Amino acid sequence: MTKFKDLGLNDDILKGIVDLGFDEAFPIQEAVIPVLLTGRDVVGQAHTGSGKTAAFALAMLQEIQPRNGIQGLVMAPTRELAIQIAGEIRKFAKYTKIKVVTVYGGQGMGIQLDALHRGAEIIVATPGRLIDHLKRGSIELRDITHIVLDEADTMLDMGFVDDISFILDLAPEERVMSLYSATMPTEILRLSEEYLNNPKQFLLDSDDLSGEGIDQSFLVIKDRDKFKYLIDFVKPIKGQVIVFCSTKYRTRDVAKFLHQEKYNAVAIEGDMSQHRREQAMGKFRSGKADILVATDVASRGIDVPRVKLVVNYDVPNVEMAYFHRIGRTARAGAEGRAITFVSYSSLGDWNLIKRQIHAPLKDLNQEMGIQISIPDPLKRQMPSRRYGGQSRGGGYSRGGGRSGGYGRSGGGGYGRSGGRNSRDDRGGGRRRDDDKGKNSYGGRSKW
Ligand code: ADP
Ligand code: MG
Repeated sequence: MTKFKDLGLNDDILKGIVDLGFDEAFPIQEAVIPVLLTGRDVVGQAHTGSGKTAAFALAMLQEIQPRNGIQGLVMAPTRELAIQIAGEIRKFAKYTKIKVVTVYGGQGMGIQLDALHRGAEIIVATPGRLIDHLKRGSIELRDITHIVLDEADTMLDMGFVDDISFILDLAPEERVMSLYSATMPTEILRLSEEYLNNPKQFLLDSDDLSGEGIDQSFLVIKDRDKFKYLIDFVKPIKGQVIVFCSTKYRTRDVAKFLHQEKYNAVAIEGDMSQHRREQAMGKFRSGKADILVATDVASRGIDVPRVKLVVNYDVPNVEMAYFHRIGRTARAGAEGRAITFVSYSSLGDWNLIKRQIHAPLKDLNQEMGIQISIPDPLKRQMPSRRYGGQSRGGGYSRGGGRSGGYGRSGGGGYGRSGGRNSRDDRGGGRRRDDDKGKNSYGGRSKW
């Protein structure tokens, strides 16, 4: 194990690290920091909760000069994550005089313009709002030396890649750039070569999406029984809980149910005002709320160490989302539990995810003696419909007429959807490019 002081970081940064109580560098930090400091591009893949933020933040801080203009740029897919990353960099930067400004949709321009006027060396941004600033000239990228894409597989998928290209074209060619995610599909690795210069790849757990340290289980139940079971599982938990739902409506309904049962729950979904989103997130982070009910907007990057249980109230519609969702617990080597509720109609989706879980997975139906009786037509449909959708395996079809085969895009498992783009960091539908309809985050756009 390497100590931070052996990584070539200056004393001001080290003081910040000591204040946070960090002692030894985590593996991804130990791997990435020295390489970034030599000026080489990096691709960093490591488990959820393994300290990727500090890996890029510390190297960036070491290389950036105070009062020398905007030199560092970090981009993230959601507002909450941008806010979190900026907060973390500020903690590391406490003794360095380096200033961080966060730029994201849904917040008044004035606040951001004021902050930019006061001077910044690092910008943490969601792409849409950053482009607004670039177009009005309130941010310039000509002095940028360090660029990071966090949750890079999301950032380079169909919904964001044009924005990212636009932004990168405005930055100097001579720059150190790095990409991070717990999931790094090969097509994204290939695409990254367009943006990176001979990167050093650190794929620390690339074959292992197991969700280390997370006690994973599933329960097959009727959709209408989910709430009853949710209460049963949440009741004994001493710690915080995140409940992931598939749509904004279900998120709201589940939060309402929890309120009725006198639970201290907050919700986050893409149609809420930014003010309410931040209020909800603030309450959850500070421990004033015990339960966060959310769409996948909270599935990426959010770090709340007290989260002991993640409940997938609905099965996610892509495997990647499953691993990111459950990765909201068991942060930084802690323990945590993840339970997935599988309604009969999501058995097909669940079987696809299950195949990728290379860790012990508890069958709660067996354990709790809960019988299931899956209607015959569903049994027949259970074999996979991903990658090519419903036409595979003999062309079963579903009577309900939902488009794209069970709400999934026909374009394959990754990165495409016919749905409306309602990505959260883009002002909840107000931005002109909100309706391009090509984004997916893997198929469904109901954040
Ligand atoms: P990732 O981006 O890999 O999911 P984060 O960067 O959010 O993970 O870090 C997860 C948690 O681990 C955070 O709460 C962070 O403060 C903590 N952490 C990061 N590095 C260290 C370290 N070297 N020692 C102790 N805790 C750390
Ligand atoms: Mg992260």
